[in-house]
Amino acid sequence: MKKLYYIDFPQEHLENQLHSYRCAYCKVETTTINGNLEGHLPTCEYRLKLENAGYDAISNDASKTLALHDADDFD
Ligand SMILES: [Zn+2]
Repeated sequence: MKKLYYIDFPQEHLENQLHSYRCAYCKVETTTINGNLEGHLPTCEYRLKLENAGYDAISNDASKTLALHDADDFD
């Protein structure tokens, strides 16, 4: 089972960086995660929850990068 984008994790704002966000669990920046489950740390609560639910990590491509930027543009 796969999802196109893994961007429904809780995010928190990085101090001193206006448009930077990171995963509230593993503290990896959203630009590093890039919409991918494997972008989170193996110990990330969000990643573990989805992996336990049967989701697989999927690889990068350009369309997902664009979608993630759109999703981030809500502030
Ligand atoms: Zn995470």
